[in-house]
Amino acid sequence: MKTYKIMGIFAHPDDETFGPGGTLALYAAQGHETFVFTATQGQAGQAASLPIKTTIGNCRVVELQKATKILGVKKLVNSEFFDGTLNESQTPLLKKVIAEETEKINPDIILIFEPGGISQHLDHIAVTKSVIQLYDEKRIHPKKIYYYGLPQELMNYLGRTGGIDEKKGAKINISSVWKTKVQAMKAHRTQKADSARILERFAAIKKSRNDAWQYECFELARTSLRNVALPETDLLNGL
Ligand SMILES: [Zn+2]
Repeated sequence: MKTYKIMGIFAHPDDETFGPGGTLALYAAQGHETFVFTATQGQAGQAASLPIKTTIGNCRVVELQKATKILGVKKLVNSEFFDGTLNESQTPLLKKVIAEETEKINPDIILIFEPGGISQHLDHIAVTKSVIQLYDEKRIHPKKIYYYGLPQELMNYLGRTGGIDEKKGAKINISSVWKTKVQAMKAHRTQKADSARILERFAAIKKSRNDAWQYECFELARTSLRNVALPETDLLNGL
């Protein structure tokens, strides 16, 4: 079997898991190589419980290491940008670091958050913008870049605006690795309020007989491939 490289590029520890964690786990389980780049150490996050003399950044890096291990990620690159500071003035440096790390890995596929950052978090938006600009400037060369996000229908259900159009991308069934994703979510112990909220949300969706919980959805943002038939059920389609 030919194996491919899939790289997720994110702002904070936990974005990889609470975001497309199931997809990363799924492709790793199939024998493909998965990579995660995290720009910050999540220093600005709230801690659910923190031992004395430990900074939240240190704690979250350890949690990120544990979570990515659970997801089967081959290599984690954790950069040292400060959480909450990825604004315009940081963009040139952020782009430089992302470009260097991406070219070292040379991924076939890159996963990033959708342009609204899912939650409108400015760090998320900055990372997404940086990756797209790097591709458009031909400084990185993946065959496909996907936006990860919640489908518009699900965003409406949650009373939010935005979201992605998965008909213009891929809908990945992650039910076989759902338990792995939940385990990785629990590894982000300082963020347990967030993971509890997300799990409650999915339990409610499940109850309403909506099968959305078992899918992670992506919109194809960029591709160098000529004949990619959409929608897809496999990110490797066309490679
Ligand atoms: Zn985040």
